Amino acid sequence: MSSIPESYADVKARIAGAAQLAGRPADDVELVAVSKTWPAETVAELAGCGHDLFGENRVQEIEAKAPSLPSKLRWHFIGHLQKNKVRKVLPLVEAIHSIDSAELAQRTDGIARELGLYPKVYLQVNTAAESSKFGFTPDGLRAGLESLLALERLEIVGLMAIPPVARRPEDARPDFVALRELRDELADRSGTPLPGLSMGMSHDFEVAIAEGATVVRVGSSIFGRRPKPPRR
Ligand SMILES: *Cc1c(COP(=O)(O)O)cnc(C)c1O
Repeated sequence: MSSIPESYADVKARIAGAAQLAGRPADDVELVAVSKTWPAETVAELAGCGHDLFGENRVQEIEAKAPSLPSKLRWHFIGHLQKNKVRKVLPLVEAIHSIDSAELAQRTDGIARELGLYPKVYLQVNTAAESSKFGFTPDGLRAGLESLLALERLEIVGLMAIPPVARRPEDARPDFVALRELRDELADRSGTPLPGLSMGMSHDFEVAIAEGATVVRVGSSIFGRRPKPPRR
């Protein structure tokens, strides 16, 4: 097994390569290192390589890890966010990738107002209409975008998707294309650019970059296979 610095260098090189093939500068694509389930020491090891952007899907994990780590680290929330966790998560993170319903958007807007914050958010789209996944349907977003954009405190930077787990990276391409095309359509209709596309994980991030990803969320390709979550 390769070390975290080696794996990180490899992922960074593959991101740069995929961006170059797509005719985009490498710094067009942000890397969120998904550190869920890994302890603070593991995050510190990657931070030691000069990386400062981490993704987590549980509020409690950010609360547990962040205090012992350099305060310059930036955290993105990437998992389903329960409404009763919004108040806790907002002061801890730079962005939320997973605003997956109008109710959650409204709630986040209201609490951001109370806290004096303007969070960056991505709207999560259930591109494959999987019943097991959270997110707006494309039609739901077409119908609801205007009222979402009217929420004063949310800086809606773009769209996010988690395509179904596929055997080959290529299998996810139609979902990445669908997300980009939906973004183009919504940007056009609303006159709001929506520049961000959060898509691509360990096994398909190069395909996602080819299709326009501006943020990839990569965990196991950097850190290795995740430890089993603790029993609760
Ligand atoms: C866990 C997770 C990732 C990272 O997955 P890997 O396959 O380990 O890269 C990315 N996005 C979300 C939403 C996740 O929950």
